[in-house]
Amino acid sequence: MPKIVLACSMPSSRSGSLPLLTHGMMENLFHEFGHAIHSMLGRTRYQHVTGTRCSTDYAEVPSILMEYFANDYRVLREFARHHQTNETLPEEMINRLCQSKKFGSAYEMQTQVFYSILDQVYHGNHPLDRPTVEILEEIQKQHSSIPYVPGSAWHLRFGHLVGYGAKYYSYLYSRAVASKVWHGCFAADPLRQETGEKYRREMLSHGGGKEPAVMVENMIGKRLSSEELVDALIDETKS
Ligand SMILES: [Zn+2]
Repeated sequence: MPKIVLACSMPSSRSGSLPLLTHGMMENLFHEFGHAIHSMLGRTRYQHVTGTRCSTDYAEVPSILMEYFANDYRVLREFARHHQTNETLPEEMINRLCQSKKFGSAYEMQTQVFYSILDQVYHGNHPLDRPTVEILEEIQKQHSSIPYVPGSAWHLRFGHLVGYGAKYYSYLYSRAVASKVWHGCFAADPLRQETGEKYRREMLSHGGGKEPAVMVENMIGKRLSSEELVDALIDETKS
């Protein structure tokens, strides 16, 4: 399969050719743009709770939601062109590319669950005289398919355990919520203006000034249970 490159509408480089983005780079651009519009469209009364200044498990929802757009042919065909022929990329090729990203997704999900549990245990109640390596070995044994390597202490280099301080689970939580928003509101027609305006009004404008569960409920029309969020993550690992 030829390497897929996407020509974006950024200004031309000095040589006159368009800068090319791989699909992975474009997905990342969409993700970060999700954070950007969360900040730009914030309309809170107080600046210290505007945009992404909200609870961590909500902050990644707008950005992860944008990843769904970056993997939908109906969105990609709006701008993605072959860099030499200017042809729109075939739908089948885009769909195969997106499907290929599901490879290893169950293991990736398991790893994220493992990291999240480890983070919770380290920040929870446990005997202070117990070495963290011992806890790592125990949790890895229970929640990872990859066996612990005796003598290793990789958790000492895993900065998120300190930087996030018991909030590493937020990545999974946000992914589950974003999945529900996508499938409940955007999957049928990702470019419907009314849905976009509702999303702006109900989820992007309040920053941290409103209870996240209420914002999501107002968007999708129902309060999400823990079971539904778990099911959403499991569905993410399927084709
Ligand atoms: Zn992010």
